[in-house]
Amino acid sequence: MRLVIIGPPGAGKGTQAKFIQGQFGIPQISTGDILRKAASDHTVLGDKASVFVQAGKLVPDDLTLDMVTERLSADDCTKGYILDGFPRTVPQAKGLETWLKGLGSQLDRVLYLNVPEEALIQRLAGRRTCRGCGTLYHLVFDPPRQPGICDDCRRELYQREDDRGNIITARLETYKAQTVPLIKFYRERGLLTEIDGVERAGKVKDQVFESLV
Ligand code: AMP
Repeated sequence: MRLVIIGPPGAGKGTQAKFIQGQFGIPQISTGDILRKAASDHTVLGDKASVFVQAGKLVPDDLTLDMVTERLSADDCTKGYILDGFPRTVPQAKGLETWLKGLGSQLDRVLYLNVPEEALIQRLAGRRTCRGCGTLYHLVFDPPRQPGICDDCRRELYQREDDRGNIITARLETYKAQTVPLIKFYRERGLLTEIDGVERAGKVKDQVFESLV
């Protein structure tokens, strides 16, 4: 099953992708996670990308497309994958489509998590991530048992640099300008399933799983 999850920052793409990974045994591929790792390792890609990430802008299409097609060529992707955060522009979507076509393949489904903007700012500002296992928390909606510590692996929780102040606003503007056109792109191809992402993660998960059977 080759899936894409699209939606605004804070819609819960990563959370739902992890649920799908657990249920269907296909890997979650988060371009944001790959870019953050590259930035912290100071690779050439990471250094180039950081400037864009920290401004709430998108990393150029050629860089992200190369990064994703390389990742999708790995052995663990042969049975499928969940792309979380890619594509984010129509040129990326076209690039992915062409690359898949070259392999005689195509996407099976695109899930669009729809969440209104008012809810997103609150979600992003309260989001915390575990440094060890990547589990996501929210200070108000889904706090860890012990403040600042992951329930699962006991490592420290951190706040993403781009989940602060005006970078949040910039990311939402970038989403509206560059990613929203993908909704039409995939709807026209008959691939889009819209999910109401406003509810708590567990309820959204039920809708997501229902749409995948
Ligand atoms: P995310 O973790 O998905 O919210 O991504 C964090 C940041 O990484 C985004 O705000 C972008 O700067 C960058 N990024 C992630 N995925 C992409 C993509 N597909 N195209 C361009 N930039 C991306």
